Amino acid sequence: MRLKILQVGEAVLRQPALPLTREQVALAETQQLIAWMRETMRDAPGVGLAAPQVGFPLQLAVIEDPPEHSKGITQQELAARERQPTPFHVLINPRIVARSEEQAEFFEGCLSLAGFSALVKRSYSLTVEYWNERFEPQRTEARGWYARILQHEIDHLHGRLYIDRMEPRSFMNVENLNKYWKDQRVETVREALLKASAAE
Ligand code: ZN
Repeated sequence: MRLKILQVGEAVLRQPALPLTREQVALAETQQLIAWMRETMRDAPGVGLAAPQVGFPLQLAVIEDPPEHSKGITQQELAARERQPTPFHVLINPRIVARSEEQAEFFEGCLSLAGFSALVKRSYSLTVEYWNERFEPQRTEARGWYARILQHEIDHLHGRLYIDRMEPRSFMNVENLNKYWKDQRVETVREALLKASAAE
């Protein structure tokens, strides 16, 4: 079943999500929700989906960046973002336990802010501990685009959206992103859009 993806303005997107217990994860209802979230993410399509986005205030998210998603993207762009295919997996009660000082800045979007994008600075690499759908403890060290996806999804579980972290003057609709800025270097975008007007 495809679930309705809630858009910004719904309170559940701004509330801290509740951690899941081992017993809750084992419930058929939770396993069903995970399957529906996977289907909804693939259908959207997106590379991640958090339970609050489909109306459940739970610390649960799914992630998948399949090779098909990278097809229309140049090798140069993929390399710049350090974007590599990531298999489907489930994050339950994730915690960021370490992150790099170094940051990376790229355009980012969200299924709950459909049609928009902005530059967002994120830690370049980080370590995350979480449980999977069988409630087995997991630890992952991520960098590049996957590290960005993890930070974006974990933010959702704390009621945060990318617009809380974005460079406000880079906010734009996807049509204009594709028309003008998609293939530009971040420095060029910053130069063009972020300079404050000289006139008072
Ligand atoms: Zn999102």
